Amino acid sequence: MQEKSEVNTDIPNSSKEEFWLTEYGPRNTAISLRVKYKLFEKKTPYQKIEIFDSYDYGRVMALDGFIMLTEKDEFIYHEMIAHVPLFTHPEPKHVLVIGGGDGGAVREILKHKSIEKVELVEIDEEVVKTSKIYFPEIASYLEDERVEINFQDGIEYVKFKHGVYDIILIDSPDPVGPAVGLFEESFYKNAFASLNDSGIIVAQSESPFIFPDLIKRVFSIFKKYFPIVHFYIANVPTYASGMISFVLGSRKFDPIKDFNPERVKSFVSTLKYYNEKVHLASFALPNFFINLLK
Ligand code: SAM
Repeated sequence: MQEKSEVNTDIPNSSKEEFWLTEYGPRNTAISLRVKYKLFEKKTPYQKIEIFDSYDYGRVMALDGFIMLTEKDEFIYHEMIAHVPLFTHPEPKHVLVIGGGDGGAVREILKHKSIEKVELVEIDEEVVKTSKIYFPEIASYLEDERVEINFQDGIEYVKFKHGVYDIILIDSPDPVGPAVGLFEESFYKNAFASLNDSGIIVAQSESPFIFPDLIKRVFSIFKKYFPIVHFYIANVPTYASGMISFVLGSRKFDPIKDFNPERVKSFVSTLKYYNEKVHLASFALPNFFINLLK
């Protein structure tokens, strides 16, 4: 079980006015960001939400002590969770986002002209409220008329939707608290059934350095339900180990064979990380990751 963060004021050989946000990992590792202030803290029925103002990464959101996003590098994760599936699907119209209450994934989805409706299912209304105040450049897209927000448990929500979605993004935190069930087979089975017959699911599947067993387990589950399963990776400086993976399950379209780079070229000017070469390169897994999947 990962430990909680704390604002650690006991850094050796530093003056007292230095404050650090430290996220303690499960394997004797930690990541620390020097912060100026803690701007907000609230214990909701689901988690502790903290917002900090950091020196090097702008504002930072932490949930139960885990760094969720920073102003400086959130674009990497949000562009990669959204554009890889949306450029794999020929014409995505109806998208479900589970989690993602900060609005970053929704912001990226809405850049696609084909989008008609985005359903965001976020269990904690406080995350949306807080994001709108402290991360307006991310959360403001949640006001778009194409977005419908449901403050519900995503695990329950997918039980009652069949054959609906072109794309489902599981933009979850680490497998703790209400998010534990978002990494279970029963949830994935219901999410699979919620897709239409050419649908695609992408879930953030953690770091292969920290969660190798989770990645193996998720792979074996996805292989049961999807004819096409791929992992892809991105480097996020403020995520423990610096590497995050995504698992993509697709009923019809392959993210490599069916990918048309021409579709991306006119888009790239609005993006800071994703482009047609990054799309393909992100599926080139290092040997240690490939061996995890054997
Ligand atoms: N998008 C961020 C990033 O850059 O990594 C982090 C993910 S987002 C903040 C994770 C969200 O999932 C949180 O707002 C949390 O409240 C929500 N969440 C956790 N469990 C959930 C569940 N079972 N159903 C719906 N939302 C859930």
